[in-house]
Amino acid sequence: MSAKASYDNIFKLMKEHHQWFSVSIPLIASENIPSAAVREALTSDFGNRYAEGWPGERVYAGCVYIDQVEMICNELAKKVFRSEFADCRATSGVVANLAVYAAFSHPGDYMLAASIPNGGHISHGKKENFGTAGLVHGLNIEYYPFSREEMTIDVDQTKKKIQEMARDGRSPKLGMFGGSLFLFPHPVKELSDFMHEHGMYINYDGAHVAGLIAGGEFQDPMREGADSMTMSSHKTLWGPQGGIIVSLEKHADAIKKAVFPGNTSCHHLHHVAGKAIALAESLQFGKDYAKQVIKNARTLAEELVKFGFGVLGEKRGYTASHQIAVDVSKFGDGGSIEKDLERANIILNRQLLPGDIKAGRHYMHPSGVRIGVPETTRLGMKEGEMNEIASFIKRVVIDKQDPQLVAKDVADFRKQFQKLHYAFDNTIGAYEYISLLNK
Ligand SMILES: *Cc1c(COP(=O)(O)O)cnc(C)c1O
Repeated sequence: MSAKASYDNIFKLMKEHHQWFSVSIPLIASENIPSAAVREALTSDFGNRYAEGWPGERVYAGCVYIDQVEMICNELAKKVFRSEFADCRATSGVVANLAVYAAFSHPGDYMLAASIPNGGHISHGKKENFGTAGLVHGLNIEYYPFSREEMTIDVDQTKKKIQEMARDGRSPKLGMFGGSLFLFPHPVKELSDFMHEHGMYINYDGAHVAGLIAGGEFQDPMREGADSMTMSSHKTLWGPQGGIIVSLEKHADAIKKAVFPGNTSCHHLHHVAGKAIALAESLQFGKDYAKQVIKNARTLAEELVKFGFGVLGEKRGYTASHQIAVDVSKFGDGGSIEKDLERANIILNRQLLPGDIKAGRHYMHPSGVRIGVPETTRLGMKEGEMNEIASFIKRVVIDKQDPQLVAKDVADFRKQFQKLHYAFDNTIGAYEYISLLNK
């Protein structure tokens, strides 16, 4: 392909992607759709500049306006998360976690975290699994004891484990809460005093649930005893892809240095502007949104159960967050079901469930799928639409209907949901392709 042909092809593919998402049901729990305001920030000249360091103490000139936006961003983050300190420079959730590892621990220290089938994230993972904490920062990872029935960390067993580790001279330095399969709050309140008494720092990884915490509808880690909270800015929050850290004031210095120069140079200033806009939107609309997200996730779970799906967390009402975990092993494996649904333009992801690794299952063919409703909720969908989504899923997974047939009905269903909600401005379509070149 010639250079020009490649060049043209890129635009064609991006447009096709936008078109596809405008007729699909996006159910990836870690994704959302940003407002036109955030998209506009990403096209600004901020993205072409350098501003290493802290506003007012930059290594580069040219930051007069950038500094002001970054200060607004930090102020908004403090307000939204009711925290003493905020740093919005981490370029992703993983980078935010790396900064916290650097601020609170040394290579060779121990960290407690959830295992992947129990909801943990690769950035909390062991070296032998190429997890960030182990591979990049040299941490040793021990897993939290986990209750499958309650679908959360087991408090009493965790206390025992910390005491045992102390006795063996392996006292953990860091307690990491939060995860990627995250149905119910983690016991920060129940464990924070105990952990602090044992010399541990506590970080809460709110990558997935930050938007729910912002809305006051999940848990409130900074009031439950966490030292810091890391997050992605783009999952249940509405920002561009990036990271944010909030913490107690006493950790501000350590975190600032760990972010720069420790883990960033350029910190993607157009994304900082986008994060600031998203935080303002969250302050204004976040509570209503978080409430609807949780209602939608519960409704979807209940409908799927009526159709015969196994949904985890039954004892506690399936979920208190934006996502649900569905055991699909009666109907196939998570990997092939993900593919069938994609052909029907229903986009979700396969998921290792608790017990899968012990049962010899591989992450390509796990027993579950994870379904999230952050994006459909932002498109204005409510409980009635969740019922319809459940029946589309049933038609593909249980009735084994031709996915292409279902895709037609999915596209029809999507016609009424082309604008995004919970935003100051929403004249531009949620998936409208905006061309600067009039292509
Ligand atoms: C998604 C996720 C991250 C990583 O965030 P990125 O912004 O993709 O780097 C970190 N921790 C948890 C628990 C996550 O789910």
